[in-house]
Amino acid sequence: MARFRSLRWRLTFLYLALLAVLLLAGGVAQYFAAREVLFRSNADVLVSEYNAVFTAFKKQTASRAATVVRALILSQTFSDELRSRRTSAAIIGPNGGLIAFTPATLATRPDVPSLTTQDYRTAALSKPKAYYIATAPDGSTSLVVLNVIRTGSKAVAVVQLSIATDDIDRTLSLDRQVAVIGSLAVLLLALLLSPLIIGRALRPLKQMSETAGKLAAGDYKQRVTAPRSSDEIGALALAFNQMAAGIDQAFEVQRQSEEQMRHFVADASHELRTPLTSIAGYIDVLGRREVVDPETLQSSLAAMQQESARMTRLVNDLLTLTRFESGRAPSRQPVVLDQFVGQALDELGLRNKGALESRDLQPGVTVRADPEALKQVVNNLAQNALKYAPGAEQHWSVFQTDGRAAIRLQDTGPGISRQDLPHIFERFYRGEKARDRSHGGSGLGLAIAKSIVEAHQGTIEASSEPGQGATFTAWLPLAA
Ligand code: ADP
Repeated sequence: MARFRSLRWRLTFLYLALLAVLLLAGGVAQYFAAREVLFRSNADVLVSEYNAVFTAFKKQTASRAATVVRALILSQTFSDELRSRRTSAAIIGPNGGLIAFTPATLATRPDVPSLTTQDYRTAALSKPKAYYIATAPDGSTSLVVLNVIRTGSKAVAVVQLSIATDDIDRTLSLDRQVAVIGSLAVLLLALLLSPLIIGRALRPLKQMSETAGKLAAGDYKQRVTAPRSSDEIGALALAFNQMAAGIDQAFEVQRQSEEQMRHFVADASHELRTPLTSIAGYIDVLGRREVVDPETLQSSLAAMQQESARMTRLVNDLLTLTRFESGRAPSRQPVVLDQFVGQALDELGLRNKGALESRDLQPGVTVRADPEALKQVVNNLAQNALKYAPGAEQHWSVFQTDGRAAIRLQDTGPGISRQDLPHIFERFYRGEKARDRSHGGSGLGLAIAKSIVEAHQGTIEASSEPGQGATFTAWLPLAA
């Protein structure tokens, strides 16, 4: 039973019901149309029969007086002339009274079919209808045609020709049978074929529900075979596949971010473990000695302090990174870049640290930024140049182009190798030459600069030709 409640069967039944109603309506309309055509054509035959006899009669009596004409046509001879094998004729007075009649087959049809007196009177006064149907007391019906004979405008008599409708009824009944059998055959064929056709059209829906089940079970690569047609089901299948692709992509992004998170935690733990192991080593060495000379103690404490400072820097860097990568918008205020970068560089005192610093700061370039964060970007770039391009020139510039503001640092150091360049903004990535920990870098400086600039809807890029220095540019949107 549940099977018949499916969309497929519901559509089938709906379609069949509609088809049945249409066939019935069509059949009924066709039946009445055929009936009308048959009645009219038989009536036309009767009228032409009448016209032939009447014209002949008129010819015979053309020269005679009107009264003679009347006498003639009202005679039994006229009605006998009209009569044929099938046709019965009667002549009725203009007031409805029977004048003469000739039944077709006297034995079986003793009575001439009779209409109401009113019918005859109305026909005599105006124009008779195309045909009438008269029902005899025994239930048999006849097709009746009335013709009015007039002298001048006065009706003299109404001539009635009639035939039994048996033949017409037989034809109509045959027509009915053909229509009923034909309709039943069409319905049966529709009942057999429509579930197949509808089932085929709905197949993608079934596939979609199966695929949705597999998607829900975690198989995000599942798709439906979209039908080639561009109908509603085709559009639904397309939309379903787009949705499945969206889910797949979303889970892929989640998988990747989880993977990145695992790497990040592993890298951070690794970075923290190194100074911790080092401190634990010093404590171990000092603990084993019964007497520690002051020099060893001093140097061990200094080394431990260095390691702890290194750990503090690392933890602070990690906190900054998470702050800007959390997606929280930094608190912004208008920052005029030439003044801001100039002041930051003054505070850094790069010349005292051995760098050949030069500036080209276009005045008035303003952005909306968190000054503390922006200072850290300048700081990190400057510290890197000090570390990786010691003694080289650091050329700082501020300018605006294409609606964007830029802070650029060009150094004349050794530059960045081709292998390193695509990775230097990754967390914990250290260039080949920087892997030696004596430089003290943790590989987070540029990652932090990138996260800060991106939190300000900007971008940061690096370019370098090995041996010819490196260029870093932070692009920021101009303040409106
Ligand atoms: P860290 O300085 O802690 O190693 P960064 O993220 O600041 O990490 O830098 C990543 C890498 O980019 C560095 O290890 C170094 O190889 C390279 N790098 C950064 N700045 C420069 C520069 N001015 N010249 C050459 N290499 C650089």
